[in-house]
Amino acid sequence: MEQFLQNTLQNSQDAFQKWRKIPFEEIQKYFTQLFEILNDRKQEFATIITQEMNKPIAQSVSEIEKCAALCDYYATAENILKTEQLETEFQISEIHHEPLGVILGVMPWNFPFWQAIRFAVPTILAGNVIVLKHASICEKSGETMQEIFEKAGFPKGVFTFLKVSHTEVEEMIAHPIISGVSLTGSEAAGRKIAETAGKNLKKCVLELGGSDAFIVCEDADVSKAAKDGAQARLQNNGQTCVAGKRFIIHEKIYQDFVEKFTEEYKKYQPENPMNKETKLGLMAREDLASDLEKQYQKALNNGAKAIVALESVGSMAFKPGVLEMNPENPIAQEELFGPLAMVFKVKNDEEALQIANNTMFGLGNAVFTSNKERALFFAENLESGSVAINQIFRSDVRLPFGGRKNSGYGVELSMYALKEFTAPKTIIGK
Ligand code: NAP
Repeated sequence: MEQFLQNTLQNSQDAFQKWRKIPFEEIQKYFTQLFEILNDRKQEFATIITQEMNKPIAQSVSEIEKCAALCDYYATAENILKTEQLETEFQISEIHHEPLGVILGVMPWNFPFWQAIRFAVPTILAGNVIVLKHASICEKSGETMQEIFEKAGFPKGVFTFLKVSHTEVEEMIAHPIISGVSLTGSEAAGRKIAETAGKNLKKCVLELGGSDAFIVCEDADVSKAAKDGAQARLQNNGQTCVAGKRFIIHEKIYQDFVEKFTEEYKKYQPENPMNKETKLGLMAREDLASDLEKQYQKALNNGAKAIVALESVGSMAFKPGVLEMNPENPIAQEELFGPLAMVFKVKNDEEALQIANNTMFGLGNAVFTSNKERALFFAENLESGSVAINQIFRSDVRLPFGGRKNSGYGVELSMYALKEFTAPKTIIGK
């Protein structure tokens, strides 16, 4: 390992030895400071996001507001990590929730501030310190977050941004100072990080890809489903892990839905992402645009029909597309990370459920129905970390977020996230 990296990890470890002794309520005060900085400078940070990965600027502003709301939530959260005393036959019988140490975060480019803050805040509040390897195209976001954590009063070494390669990530996970790793990213990266973490017996949290179902039953409000569906698929240029990607529609309302959905789609045309009114920006990288085009062609070659053609209009820009799919199409098993929807026609709820669960992903499915029992049937049987009823699924800081199957494991957000990188220590005595 390079000396600079060795030194950085040592600095983080030294910072951790002091930080772990700071009371929970004291740490919360720093998050109030961070909340204020994020709110005061949201335009500046939103501009960095849009410059780095082409998200429409209004959505970048919302991302920063969501980060600020997360800081506020944890700044006022109940301390669930305080020592627990139990009544047993022992005189002393306690559970101490101890932080693990220096935790590595490996984060993606699609929500450059949100993903990193979502990982860092509860992890640091629990008494850990973090080092961040951000996506290569988001280094300015990484640098800026370190700067604002320090401005908010966090001592140096509590939040450290690092420019490192994949090989160095592997070396870091193997290093004795790193006690755990959290990755948000693709399934391929998840397999690699989990393999290295497993080999080195390190705790690992994985938030990976998704190909969520968006089920519209025959009794649904079709206009609302079509409007929400277009937004779910196309927000963040179609590059959201937990977005409706497979639209599973009852045959009785299929035609009506498709017409309304494609009408809504027309409202999303690629524009300059810096314009406040823009609803669809550009893909984040050229290779991702090229991958999406290849998937589109492969779907067509395997019998999919283009209801609306995916049209490339210049470097990294697409007019969004809609594909009518059959479940056997190999692309139905892949994540489409861009402005391209898959639509399936089904005869009944059982078939809708079967297609929805026929994927190795499971993040946040959605179902639209006016019948409560039907909603419950889907909520109980969909294989995903979350289910939204009659609305788009959106992560909420108050509620746990995580995946099933190849979408990963471990929990982020809510009070659950506070314990992800802690360990309960039992103390007994007479
Ligand atoms: P990615 O290529 O997996 O990259 C994510 C991060 O992992 C980046 O920092 C990347 O660094 C790093 N990385 C990739 N391969 C690595 C390896 N072998 N060793 C060490 N580090 C490695 O994913 P992405 O394209 O940025 O993000 C899109 C994916 O993330 C999609 O599949 C999306 O669904 C998923 N995602 C999931 C969630 C969730 O909460 N479940 C949220 C957002 C996104 P470099 O940039 O340097 O390659």
